[in-house]
Amino acid sequence: MAGGSEFISINPSLNREVFKLGGKSLLECYQCGSCTAVCPLAEELNVSFRRAIRYTQLGVEEKILGDISPWSCNLHGDCTDSCPRGASPSEILAAIRRYQANKYDWTGLARWWNNSSLTAKILTYLAFFAISLLFYFGIYWQKILQFASTGKLVILSELLIPVVAVFVVALVILAPSGYRAYRFMIKDKKKEVGFFKSLKLIANFFIKLETESMGVPHKRDRILEHVLILVGLGLFILLAIIYLVFPKFFEFEIISKALIYIASLSLLIGVGSPLTKRLMASEKTHWYYKKFRHPTDWMSLITLFPVALMALLVFVFYDLSMILYAYIAFALLLIFLIPFLLLEFAFGKHTHWLYKIIAYYVGARTGYFRGD
Ligand code: SF4
Repeated sequence: MAGGSEFISINPSLNREVFKLGGKSLLECYQCGSCTAVCPLAEELNVSFRRAIRYTQLGVEEKILGDISPWSCNLHGDCTDSCPRGASPSEILAAIRRYQANKYDWTGLARWWNNSSLTAKILTYLAFFAISLLFYFGIYWQKILQFASTGKLVILSELLIPVVAVFVVALVILAPSGYRAYRFMIKDKKKEVGFFKSLKLIANFFIKLETESMGVPHKRDRILEHVLILVGLGLFILLAIIYLVFPKFFEFEIISKALIYIASLSLLIGVGSPLTKRLMASEKTHWYYKKFRHPTDWMSLITLFPVALMALLVFVFYDLSMILYAYIAFALLLIFLIPFLLLEFAFGKHTHWLYKIIAYYVGARTGYFRGD
């Protein structure tokens, strides 16, 4: 940098890659700015989707990696409804997020996973699933039979060890990627807002935005699906922590079972609803469920659905006194969790939760919120 000017490096393959990652209408954009103007977020945040799209068209990688606008997008879709060029800004932004996530990942495997075709993804997933299946039933089958014969359902800590180990591996992969994302996003920005005020800004922003959006049917459906997934995952994580620090809690069978049912049903409906709408898409289905059909969108749902289903079946079988089936469902739950954690949680679309949280945090601390 010299005399206030700045040399900017261009990555000529960036726009092609974003195009392949689902940003098919990238070149349609002629920079009118309507997408930013109509976006309900623009009242609250200094978003600029037009700018993010421009940087992508030009291949200005450094600017794209540090841009938090794409992570602000909550898929309200007003931009896509109003773009005069018939482009789909929300899809372009989703593709930019995939590109950013690929670059934040330090292993290089996210790029391989997210750029591969749906067939390659399913085959890889099935290979991991088969290894996990052979491992579990090969090693633990006798133990399962032995415990099932007691007629009681006990959480077999031994069975949890491989999943916990895989979870730790996934976290070890994810944590440096999250740190890289933070470094890219915070670069050249000044922290102007205190930590607690930032949290308050984020909370107020989401409450206001999502409450307003609940009045619009297609937005309401999508918000509810996301909330159900969050409730399901959040409750499962909470129950796992309680199990580790205060296992006696599970002796209060009515409460613990009610929480498990709420968690598994929330997750099952939250994942099953968009999956069904995508699979059964008709003319009446909102474009949101028809447009977001990139392989990463499919895999995030396909890999989570059986986890939620098995979690529910464990207790359905138990309540029906089908103890052996309850144990098999429990083993299958763990078996499905392994490829989910190793592929989707560590490299796939589920990493976006982390990057989104980081982007909102960086945004709130650096004056991105208009309410500060
Ligand atoms: S509304 Fe469409 S053409 Fe206008 S800036 Fe947004 S994506 Fe580009």
